[in-house]
Amino acid sequence: MEVFIEPIGRLINEFSKLPGVGKKTAQRYAYRVVQMPEDEVSAFAEALMGVKHKVKYCQVCGNYSTTDVCEVCRTRDKSVVCVVKEPKDVVAFERLHEYKGVYHVLHGVISPMDGIGPNDIRIKELIARLDGTVKEVIMATNPDVEGEATAMYIAKLIKPFEVMVTRLAHGIPIGSELEYADQVTLSRALSERKEL
Ligand SMILES: [Zn+2]
Repeated sequence: MEVFIEPIGRLINEFSKLPGVGKKTAQRYAYRVVQMPEDEVSAFAEALMGVKHKVKYCQVCGNYSTTDVCEVCRTRDKSVVCVVKEPKDVVAFERLHEYKGVYHVLHGVISPMDGIGPNDIRIKELIARLDGTVKEVIMATNPDVEGEATAMYIAKLIKPFEVMVTRLAHGIPIGSELEYADQVTLSRALSERKEL
């Protein structure tokens, strides 16, 4: 016999699919939902469906957006492009409130070990953006082996376009991820970026 009655067991199972949520936590979440007023549960369910139905990729930068071209791409300085691995890295930079340029989300980094080559991430799309308006490309992939290799690979590709390629200054702990860097460290890494 199952320990949980079916609807609760099913919800526990769904919650446990989330990162960092173990069986115990999933169980606590599920029991909390059972106790919630119906309108709160509806709001929860609508928010879940909302991200699926309303969020798409910006056609220019590849970040999440509710419109075909995101607000950052529509309103900011297009001469500087900050290249990041994932949408959550954009959030890390936006929190600083000091970067005025636009972004390019690669949706991954080159990783031969995982079978991810240059054609599996949005490198072609980045090169296509180098039409003369872009003056600087900041390589802001994570300071780990794959992130460094990807930065060097892209820097080499960009060279013929006469665009300055910079790399975030060190200071972000090697092997760590941008999203966990504190704001002071990330801000300094950005302002002290070096030409590659
Ligand atoms: Zn965009």
